[in-house]
Amino acid sequence: MRIGILGCGQLARMMALAGWPMGLHFSFLADPGDTGDCVKGLGDLIEYPEGHESLSLSSLAEQVYESMLRPDVITVEKESVPVALLEALKSHCSVYPDPKAVRVCQNRGCEKEFIEGVGASMAPKLVVNTPDELATAVKELTLPVIVKTCEDGYDGLNQWKLDSDDDLEAFLSEHKEIAESVVEKRVDFSREISLILVRAADGRTAAYPPTQNWHEGGILRASFAPAEAVDESLATQIEDLKERVFGNLNYVGVLAIECFVVDGKLLVNELAPRVHNSGHWTQQGAHTSQFENHLRAICNLPLGSTAVSGCAGMVNLLGVEMDAQKALRPNAFFHTYNKSVRPNRKVGHINLVAEEAQVLRAQLTEMLGEIYD
Ligand code: AMP
Repeated sequence: MRIGILGCGQLARMMALAGWPMGLHFSFLADPGDTGDCVKGLGDLIEYPEGHESLSLSSLAEQVYESMLRPDVITVEKESVPVALLEALKSHCSVYPDPKAVRVCQNRGCEKEFIEGVGASMAPKLVVNTPDELATAVKELTLPVIVKTCEDGYDGLNQWKLDSDDDLEAFLSEHKEIAESVVEKRVDFSREISLILVRAADGRTAAYPPTQNWHEGGILRASFAPAEAVDESLATQIEDLKERVFGNLNYVGVLAIECFVVDGKLLVNELAPRVHNSGHWTQQGAHTSQFENHLRAICNLPLGSTAVSGCAGMVNLLGVEMDAQKALRPNAFFHTYNKSVRPNRKVGHINLVAEEAQVLRAQLTEMLGEIYD
């Protein structure tokens, strides 16, 4: 079976690494200018056809499908993909997740509307298009807030925290025009958790134990699972959220939901229609990794167990040099993405496994100190 992936970054790499043992073959569609270093040796790297901007959608889809060597199924490794092309590819092969789900996640405004629509809770927010609307929204929501552009914002990019009237004034004097943005009340969360869920083509679903995440400057730094203190109430909210989201999206594959826990209440922050950085620990910590389960789901194969033995964690390598010699311990596993190092760039991660949460947390803290202090 051949899998076509739109994108050729580390998530595509890790999907291919999980798929090879199952006999799957891969084609990757690179964005213009992407060298495809992450997926070198793991499949066929395809570029957009020359003059693709002037091709009709149906000829573009046909050419992409042919140059990807007629994959049986096409999937994505990121949400910033041309959804119209994805939709057009459906006339050639299966496309999972459904492009409509990808579209929902491409724009924070649409995403929040979807979250609201399924009856899930989130931080109070308003969508704005002008500086005046932004000022009014801040007044209504009250400070502190966080401003996030609806598109082109990830890993803390295109986000501004406003704590005071002075911050607001400075923001407004710097931004005479603004792109469509969400102004969100900043919530005082006790924890950030993410849910890595999977839904098979036959509708069966599975969930990994909730992951607890630590972000620095809007970028994931480390995670561990199972998250601490998931009591009955939180577990019920998580299950309810899963039903609501899957019940309203015709979804196949892995889906990640990032949440805040505020006074024991689950608030949804965002959705990712793909395998997710906060699920990397599943490579060693779960019976089946998120990458393998995504492939199993989109290939209509039986899902693998999402159970864990003990606990697991992950430290992201952001803009730091690391090698196997330095990273490896008896319970530590090194994953490198074959990328050059640039400030804050995700170039790899280290997974840890342990029997006891306390031991794992102490080791994570120690490792973070060694890498970043
Ligand atoms: P996002 O790009 O929406 O995932 O935001 C990146 C990070 O910023 C989150 O993981 C949080 O640590 C922080 N953040 C985002 N939105 C809020 C909010 N409404 N209140 C508090 N912190 C937030």
